[in-house]
Amino acid sequence: MTDPRLRNYTRLNLLSTGSAVLIALLLMAGYHWYREREDLLKNLTMQARLLGANATAAIVFEDGRTANEIIATVDASPTIMEATVYRADGSLMARFQRTQTTPALADQAPPLGHLFSSTDLRLAVPVQLEGRTVGRIALRASLDDLYGQLRRLFGGMLLILTVSAVLGTYVSRKMRLQMATTENEIERMALYDRVTGLANRHAFELGLSQTLQRHARDGGGSALLFIDVDDFKKVNDLFGHQIGDEVLKAVGERLGKTLRAADIVARIGGDEFAAILTNTVARADAAHVAENLVQFGAEPFETGDLPAHIGFSIGICMIPHDGANLEDALRNADLAMYQAKKMGKNTYQFFSQNLGTKVRRGLDIEAGLRLALQHDELYVVYQPQRSVRNGRIEGLEALVRWRHPERGMISPLEFIPVAEEAGLIEDVGRIVLDHVCRDIVELRGSGHVVPPVAVNVSVRQIARGNIGEDIRAALQKYRLKPEVLKIEVTESVFLDHLDAHARTLDELAAAGIEIAIDDFGTGYSSFAYLRHLPVSILKIDMRFVRDLPDDTEALALVNGIIGMGHAIGLSVIAEGVESAIQAECLREAGCDLLQGYHIGLPVRKQEMMMLLEPN
Ligand code: C2E
Ligand code: CA
Ligand code: CA
Repeated sequence: MTDPRLRNYTRLNLLSTGSAVLIALLLMAGYHWYREREDLLKNLTMQARLLGANATAAIVFEDGRTANEIIATVDASPTIMEATVYRADGSLMARFQRTQTTPALADQAPPLGHLFSSTDLRLAVPVQLEGRTVGRIALRASLDDLYGQLRRLFGGMLLILTVSAVLGTYVSRKMRLQMATTENEIERMALYDRVTGLANRHAFELGLSQTLQRHARDGGGSALLFIDVDDFKKVNDLFGHQIGDEVLKAVGERLGKTLRAADIVARIGGDEFAAILTNTVARADAAHVAENLVQFGAEPFETGDLPAHIGFSIGICMIPHDGANLEDALRNADLAMYQAKKMGKNTYQFFSQNLGTKVRRGLDIEAGLRLALQHDELYVVYQPQRSVRNGRIEGLEALVRWRHPERGMISPLEFIPVAEEAGLIEDVGRIVLDHVCRDIVELRGSGHVVPPVAVNVSVRQIARGNIGEDIRAALQKYRLKPEVLKIEVTESVFLDHLDAHARTLDELAAAGIEIAIDDFGTGYSSFAYLRHLPVSILKIDMRFVRDLPDDTEALALVNGIIGMGHAIGLSVIAEGVESAIQAECLREAGCDLLQGYHIGLPVRKQEMMMLLEPN
């Protein structure tokens, strides 16, 4: 697609060049014509003088025969058509005529001088003898020759001009064609993905806006799918980029095969694909396609040496219902895809208004949390853990609190997962450690016995491996011994990345910090391997405590945990104890420590002073 402006410009350029050449040509031809005419006149004058000189005697002596012979010598000059000799009185004496037509030179002598007409040149010169005019010679030369020359010259030049014009047009057309191809190529590259040959993000967004416009005009709807390749980074790291590209290409082919021809498929990012299932209004239909894709994605991709295992996490946004404009549709499909990834990959998720609110709130919380870290809005409360045996407070659990300047209290259940996602959990952890250690020092300073304080540590903190260093730093800063702290980790710490996590926990235990398994009973940990972990406390999840004492299953479970825990030398604590009956039930089961609203609410340091025993 050449720009018409460019085409016009080229045409104009050609035209001006052409007329310039033509003017130059005309000037040259004019000059040439003038020169040739002058030459002819000079030649003819010379010939006429020569004839006059030769014919003087014949004129003077009235020798008509000789005059005719002399004048006939012009036969050798083909341009001369006629030649005449006149006597002094102007009457004709001899005549040469090349062709037998009516003579053009009159019988009466013409005036001296020359005359150009369009077809010939006429010339009359005097014949003189010793200063006296004795007669007159007239010649008539045809201009045909001159015209011929001019024609040839003009023709030649015209030929050159034509050839160069044709050549120029050809070249410029070739150039235009070349330019158009390049432009097409650029356009193609701007719309297509190099690796897969699918539409690229730009083209996809164009297609999506058109689809949205169509639905706004004609009604109906489509399904927008965001497809993220799970573990693509692993494929790239393991097999290299070339294989990575091949896998992407294969993914594109699989997508193409699974979808209908009318659907739009594109690669919109490194390992992100997208599709529009056009005119798909029923969620069930979209779900069906997504299911097929998930299944398709789970099949290994052949990569030459080894099969590459990937998977698809798919987010679905029904348009226009869940996204009536481009930004909303794209963002919501993206949110649904992230949700699918969170759900454990190789699955699909629909966008819902609920999810949108959740994610927006998550983003709000993340932004707020960053400020909270700077402005010191976080603080710590302590909940007592009372000994069943002697009723004394033998432990505290530190629980972080956040009072948002506008929104008020925000639960750690809400902001801790956000902090984990946003990579802020280590900062939160350090703040909690610092508060806890400072509070321990102050409580001691005010003459209280402070039992070990349990700090919650998230799996992410263990995974990052800095927790040991953070604890050491906090203890050192406040000159405290490791025994003042305990940590609580959930069972999931032991489920994945066991080796790396176990090393961190071993380190902490070796440093003298007790480790408790939080929310015990909800995961899959077996007593068989608990024995090998550096864990000394089991914390029964409050879900089981809540159902005591009526739920026999919960009772059996609690009894089992306490019995088995004791059997392998662990102490057991129950959390979420809300009533005296629950407390009694746990006492009978042999539980060591109790924690919960019935035992004591989480309170700030100042209130804790009232509860702790004096030194
Ligand atoms: P968790 O470790 O299971 O903490 C116990 C939660 O139960 C606390 O909620 C506590 O206030 C609440 N609770 C205490 N007694 C009772 C009771 O009798 N009944 C009921 N229903 N609940 C009770 P909180 O403070 O909202 O903390 C929620 C979760 O947030 C904690 O669960 C813990 O996983 C996490 N968390 C709290 N502080 C921190 C922290 O400093 N770091 C990390 N990583 N996580 C923390
Ligand atoms: Ca806890
Ligand atoms: Ca817990």
